[in-house]
Amino acid sequence: MFSCLGKRAVQDFRPEEILVEVGSEKSRIFTNLRRALPELPVTFVDQLHPYAEDPSVSNDPFGKGKRRLFLQRHRGDFLKKCPGSDGQVCCNYFVINFASNCPMECSYCYLQEYLADNPTLKVFSNVGDLISEADELLSRHRRFFFRIGTGEITDSLALDPYIGFSSEVIPFFAEQPNVLLELKTKSHRVENLLGLNPKGRVVVSWSMNPQKVIDRDEHLTASLEERLAAARRCQEAGYKLGFHFDPIVEYPGWEKDYQTMVEEIFAKVERRRIAWLSMGVLRNTPGLKRIMRKRFPSTQLLSGEQVLGPDGKMRYFQPLRVEMYRKMLRWIRAASPTVFVYLCMESKEVWEQVFGFAPSCEKELGNRLANLEV
Ligand code: SF4
Repeated sequence: MFSCLGKRAVQDFRPEEILVEVGSEKSRIFTNLRRALPELPVTFVDQLHPYAEDPSVSNDPFGKGKRRLFLQRHRGDFLKKCPGSDGQVCCNYFVINFASNCPMECSYCYLQEYLADNPTLKVFSNVGDLISEADELLSRHRRFFFRIGTGEITDSLALDPYIGFSSEVIPFFAEQPNVLLELKTKSHRVENLLGLNPKGRVVVSWSMNPQKVIDRDEHLTASLEERLAAARRCQEAGYKLGFHFDPIVEYPGWEKDYQTMVEEIFAKVERRRIAWLSMGVLRNTPGLKRIMRKRFPSTQLLSGEQVLGPDGKMRYFQPLRVEMYRKMLRWIRAASPTVFVYLCMESKEVWEQVFGFAPSCEKELGNRLANLEV
């Protein structure tokens, strides 16, 4: 059970131990890690010992796994097409998995189920292979515009102060004519980004929620104020910005909190620097709910009514979702009539009811996103 996280934030994150696969000590990521955490002992191993994944080592093996950092080579492809969700409109996105799992602790995090059998916090050392693979893909399809994100099975920036991943990859992506790299985060640790020149090729985006939701359910993440301050710093350093209202949570008085948050964003950042906004309501699965009940027994996210969709995910009842999206869209449009807004993992029917249209295919939405001029 993960009950009392208090006010600790991700800047206080310290793995309990660092394991390094023999060979990975030659990597830049290892050098960065040692420089950032010199006091932590390092154990060299040939492979991750099974006991690290043994549920009997703890009554919270997932939480325990997050505090054990394993640096290893990635085997297989780094780049994958985002799997999307069955029956929902997809935005034609590619993902790079440079790490697996996340040091922060959101009660609703789907990784708790997705990585339940493999929770060790892994960072991949062979960034050179990642860059070669991306280079091969981007140069083979110069006429196709790619959107690539790194935040699918980890947070894009939470580990950055320790591993310096952003400094390894941004200089490469900044030189590519046919890509936008998205770094999606709930952290405010953007310091490594500020001295680099993204040349219009990098979007730094934040998952946004009112402070009330952050306090209750996004443990160890940056506060709303810190996320906005980090966004301003990135804007000043030449980055494009993105904001993801995801998951939007319904509770008594949610409207006032979300409206205030939307207004605050547009008051603090330059609207023309916003590449995109997305909206998605709280989603979970029956399995994830069981895990949440055990790990976060005091969360209130389990109490609202949700229905099971064709993709196996539970969401609020459709009319409520549409109402929530329409309200959010109204507040966004009041601040910026033209900013690009899309829905994450929603059906065509919901798109039509919210926007009056639905992208005819995933390519159309992908192209709209790729061709935005910011
Ligand atoms: S920041 Fe994202 S990846 Fe990390 S715990 Fe929260 S939801 Fe999961």
